[in-house]
Amino acid sequence: MTEAGAKTLNSDKVIKPGATIGILGGGQLGRMLTLAGRNMGYRFATLDPTEDSPCGQVADTQIVANYDDVEAARKLADRSDVITYEFENVNAKVTELLMKEAYVPQGSQLLYTTQHRFREKKAIEASGVPVAPYEEIKSVDQLREAVLRFGAPCVLKTATGGYDGKGQWVIRSLDEVQEAFETLSRAHTELVLEQFIHFDKELSVIAARSPRGEVKAFPVAENIHVDNILHLSIIPARIPQAVQKEAEKLAIRIASSLGVIGLIAVEMFLTKDGQLFVNELAPRPHNSGHYTMEACRSSQFEQHIRAICNLPLGSTELMSPVVMVNVLGEHVEPLIELMDQGLFAEDGESPVSPKLHLYGKHEAKEKRKMGHINLLASHVDTALDWVDRAGIWKASKR
Ligand code: AMP
Repeated sequence: MTEAGAKTLNSDKVIKPGATIGILGGGQLGRMLTLAGRNMGYRFATLDPTEDSPCGQVADTQIVANYDDVEAARKLADRSDVITYEFENVNAKVTELLMKEAYVPQGSQLLYTTQHRFREKKAIEASGVPVAPYEEIKSVDQLREAVLRFGAPCVLKTATGGYDGKGQWVIRSLDEVQEAFETLSRAHTELVLEQFIHFDKELSVIAARSPRGEVKAFPVAENIHVDNILHLSIIPARIPQAVQKEAEKLAIRIASSLGVIGLIAVEMFLTKDGQLFVNELAPRPHNSGHYTMEACRSSQFEQHIRAICNLPLGSTELMSPVVMVNVLGEHVEPLIELMDQGLFAEDGESPVSPKLHLYGKHEAKEKRKMGHINLLASHVDTALDWVDRAGIWKASKR
């Protein structure tokens, strides 16, 4: 995929309120983009295979079709003044069609780069930002040799299609090499071996860039995962200010170097000795940026809309310490019971303001992201105490 055939990006072109924004994908990210954009006066169309999707519920129009349905994508293009997406694995034929027949300010290059771990790592390195040492793996013998060189543990990953820890294997000894290779090879994609980073913290920064070249980063989030799924984001991150600034600088450097339009989420590891390594990128709103909805002057969703529409970017200033906790399928029922019991009260004396967001998903399956709560407090420890007190998250791992 190249930019060839794409309508030329005009840095003066502004998409004004009243216009229709088309979103490929109808999940929670599309929903929150739509809710933010509606406040700004935009109309929304979405394409998603599920009737009454989280985004479809709040958009003006939902086209119900598979993501690789080129005719449906054409319909979305016809109805929209500008197109964006809420996931990065956009089908290549659909991308090609949209680039020809619609206005897609984010372009296809960034999708092409972030759809594949090698291309992504090379692009990050080219912007002068470190990634964990890695190697392309083509055979089990090569894997064995690379594991010996990197030393166990190390992480074997599929180059495409992985998320929430799927498509990866932490190799802890040479005995696992054969099985790891065979298992991940079933995904029919290239494999990459990464050195294991013994990180002290996982961080992320979301940056935005607009066609007029304005770039801004949100404050760095400290992220805690449970079973490879984001559990908590803590802001301000409990790291020295200089490291916070450095992480934000790296994200801005990546956004500028990759010519990002819209949002880019940059996930990083921080080692004990203060080194930062970028793990991966996501060219869209990100779960670790949900805290911005109440805690920052502009949310990541508003910022994405401002960026793709080429409006001036909003302020990313943090207005309050905040902890975001994810609500998965297994948490929904106990949470709704708790709502009756005072934990959500805000009477002026309450040390925490809990802001609940639910995504309108019909089925609360285990581990499925159903919503999140932004806990605003005068200190993040107070918000973390709230999570412990609620008692519905097994491990807050704070
Ligand atoms: P990813 O799918 O690449 O985001 O990886 C999911 C999770 O696996 C990360 O959030 C880390 O906790 C862990 N992980 C991935 N790569 C590495 C690595 N090279 N070193 C240590 N932990 C890793």
